[in-house]
This record gives sequence, C-alpha cells and structure tokens, in this order.
Amino acid sequence: MIADSKLVSVVVPSPNHSGKRIYPLTRISIHCVVGQCYAKSLGDLFADAGFEASSNYGIGFDGSIGQYLPESYRSWCTSSYDNDNRAITIEVASDTFEPYKVTAAAYNALIKLLVDICRRNGKKKLMWFGSKSWALSYEPKPDELVMTVHRWFANKACPGDYLYDLHPQIMAEVNQQLGGTAESASTASSKKTETATLTFNYLALTGYNNVSAQVKMLQRLLRDIQYKGKDGKELTVDSKFGANTDYAVRAFQKKNGLTVDGVVGPATWKKLTGGK
Ligand SMILES: [Zn+2]
Repeated sequence: MIADSKLVSVVVPSPNHSGKRIYPLTRISIHCVVGQCYAKSLGDLFADAGFEASSNYGIGFDGSIGQYLPESYRSWCTSSYDNDNRAITIEVASDTFEPYKVTAAAYNALIKLLVDICRRNGKKKLMWFGSKSWALSYEPKPDELVMTVHRWFANKACPGDYLYDLHPQIMAEVNQQLGGTAESASTASSKKTETATLTFNYLALTGYNNVSAQVKMLQRLLRDIQYKGKDGKELTVDSKFGANTDYAVRAFQKKNGLTVDGVVGPATWKKLTGGK
C-alpha cells in the first residue's frame, strides 16, 4: 500500500475494511482515539483482524501521521455503512478522560492533513453544520466535503467535546488555507439577496457562509415535510426567499405553535431540524 498523502510518515495496512467505497467522497469524519499514542501504535492495533475496526488515517500525539487504508477504501470507523462509504476517517490521539483533549502537535497535523486531502481530491471547502439533520440532508457540491461525527451514528461521545467544539475552527482554518474560496459572511450580506426576512444568522451557528445555500436548505427541509408555497404547489428549491417560501415558513410556524412571523429564528430552525 502506497500512502496517498506525502504527510504520511508511517503506513500500516489494516485488514479491517470493505474494499473501495461505493459512493463518491463527500465527507470527513474526525475521531478521537482515547489514548495518547503514536500513529504507528494505532496502526498496529488496526492491523489486527480481531480488532474489527480501522480508519483511513491516524494522527499521533507527536503529530505523526499514519495511513492504514487507501483514501478510496471504506473504513470501519463511524458505525455507519452510509457514512463510511462517503467519508475519509481520521483518528486523532487524545487523552483518555474528558474532554479528550488532543495535543497542539496532533491538532496542527490534523489541519495540515485536511488541507492536503482537500487539495488532492479537488475539494475547495470543508463544511460543518453542527446539526446531524442538516449535515445529512445537505447535498454537497463536487468540491465540498461535509464534516460528520461519530456521535451522530452511535451512542458514543466520539469525538470528545474538545475536538467536537473545535469543529467550527477546524473548518475555518482549513478553508482559509485552501485559499479563501469560501464566500465571506460580509460579502454574502453585502449582496443584498432576497433573504432579508431570514434574519437569524446561521453563520454563527454553523459557520456556513453562503446565504443562498442556506435558503436552499430551508426550502428543501420544508418541501420534504410537505409544506407548500402560496401558489399551492410543491416548494421550489431555488434559494430565493420569496412569497412561497414565506408562506411555507408561516404555515410551519403555525402548525408547530411558534410565533407566526415568517422569520426563521433559532426556535423555528430548531423545530425544523428536529431539535438538534
Ligand atoms: Zn469514533
């Protein structure tokens, strides 16, 4: 096995995998090891078929980067067939106790590895939504990678709160290094899109920095739960917050005992995304 990334210092092939992924690469899942180990030691663990687990990459406390499966392979990492067939998985050495802190060396190596993965795979943007329902219902563009976490798929704290809480920062740092291709919040708002009624600032919540894509997501969610537009037709997912979207939002608010004002604030959003 040849390492995909030049940053890899140790390759330890693991027998624990399902071969090539069956879906295109659209996700990244960062895990914590629960142990301050070297990338080599983690690889040795995954090299044991009896361990029945693996990841594509592992990062040691010293910043060493190991690869255990090719990026094109489905690892056994996130307790989800659906996710692991779409994600490159990365285990990061961490403390064995809450909040499962990682070293600065490991964190820096993680950022470098993510930038490298994005560049080699033609991805220009990492996306963190902070919400399982939103993340999984989002349809990433070919140059986007959605960050997902193990705790969404299994009764686990993985990644620990330390890495989990750093997800917005990880996204921001990686996107910045990818060359600022992501539209900045100020650019988006200065465009004066038709989203004036969408007053809740999702950017703060999700780090998501494209207003029209936010409206698109809102429309998709409303459409999927059968809220029609003012014209009585299925809601069009066109990123334009017009009369039909406004009507669907108000109908949703009315039905759910929320203030009926057509404004998608935190309460409406929480209800819409299943309370997460
Ligand atoms: Zn995990």
